[in-house]
Amino acid sequence: MNTAVASSAVLPTATDAAPALPGGYRFCPRCATALSRGVPLGADDPRERTLCGNCGWVHWDNPLPVVAALVQLGDKILLARNAAWTPGKFALIAGFMERGETPEAGIAREVMEETGLTVVEHNMIGVYPFLLRNELLLVYHVRAEGDVHLSPELAEYKLVDPADLVPWPQGTGPAVGDWMRSQGLVVPDAVPLP
Ligand SMILES: [Zn+2]
Repeated sequence: MNTAVASSAVLPTATDAAPALPGGYRFCPRCATALSRGVPLGADDPRERTLCGNCGWVHWDNPLPVVAALVQLGDKILLARNAAWTPGKFALIAGFMERGETPEAGIAREVMEETGLTVVEHNMIGVYPFLLRNELLLVYHVRAEGDVHLSPELAEYKLVDPADLVPWPQGTGPAVGDWMRSQGLVVPDAVPLP
């Protein structure tokens, strides 16, 4: 999982006078002018955007694609807990794609980086909006092989019998339910993650 790192060292102290606008930016990444809100020149869409009045840069704030995997190891599903998460919160392996890679390569890389496992088979479960985080989730069931070696980003993992999975309502949770249905399993009601 990639984690956005907030940097306070590169901006001048004048940041206090320019509060972050929707999308999180204060200054134009192209010319460093303070950003404002408005409808871009020539846009057909009347929605206001965060934009630069000097050079015309527009922060469109489009959803970011994220790859996620329901990792099958043997006959079990691996769920992992990020080190930053509440105890008891286990979910899928997920992360941002890198420039130049396919979704399949991206999820194989994430699974290797986070668990040490080698992906040997991909099966697309589906594409899911994660509106709360402005992300678009590309969720796969993958078969993986090897020994689990967790990255420092992950605190722990557990191996769950597919029939014992319980979906959660947000993010990758609906994909878990859809995969269970595709396997002919009874899908319990979704339970929010802790
Ligand atoms: Zn600019």
